[in-house]
Amino acid sequence: MSRTLSIDDTLYRYIVDHSAREHPAQVGLREATRRHPHAGMQIGPDQAQFMALLVKLMGAHRTIEIGVFTGYSALSVALALPADGRVLACDINDEYTRVGKPFWQQAGVADRIDLRLAPALQTLDAELARGAAGSYDFAFIDADKTNYDNYYERCLQLLRTGGLIAIDNVLWSGAVARPSRDADTLALQALNDKLHRDTRIDLSLLAIGDGLTLARRR
Ligand code: SAH
Ligand code: CA
Repeated sequence: MSRTLSIDDTLYRYIVDHSAREHPAQVGLREATRRHPHAGMQIGPDQAQFMALLVKLMGAHRTIEIGVFTGYSALSVALALPADGRVLACDINDEYTRVGKPFWQQAGVADRIDLRLAPALQTLDAELARGAAGSYDFAFIDADKTNYDNYYERCLQLLRTGGLIAIDNVLWSGAVARPSRDADTLALQALNDKLHRDTRIDLSLLAIGDGLTLARRR
């Protein structure tokens, strides 16, 4: 059985050097985030490009992002969308998200990113209340881990059949595979268990970044 490689810094650098094709605005936004105390929350260019590829393969138009931070993942998805595509981008922190806006402008995709500064559950419930169930193609879940199950359930309703949810940090630096009392780890473990059994979706748990589960609505 061939299993996933361990990726050290040298091999990771090789992967990025032989795959990532970033827009100058993506490079600029990563640079602008590099010294941020929470820079480690940003997805890597390899994962961003993988998600962009998925969005293109699906021909996605309407997408959701839960957890924007400085806007690198939203920018990467927006660049993969057609001109009339949209990212419903949910975050609560204006200090983080305003870092990204000039780079969204620079890339010419600012009009594709509909930023909603409010608790994501509120935004998702408002979407459901206005009758948007079944109208989204793709969702990226990457905010507070203890709400992941709530986000997953909302996104499943908002997605069309065949739509895709990508859930970030599902390996949590490996902590999910060990006993834990940490609330975030417990939430991720419970969700990973639930998704494995969930017959509403097809899934794949990928060892990219900090672990990414792809869940396709059946
Ligand atoms: N996807 C981003 C990283 C997101 S980090 C990237 O790749 O760059 C997690 C984000 O979730 C933070 O910006 C934080 O402000 C946001 N967040 C935390 N709790 C939230 C909530 N209840 N609703 C919406 N966003 C939330
Ligand atoms: Ca993340």
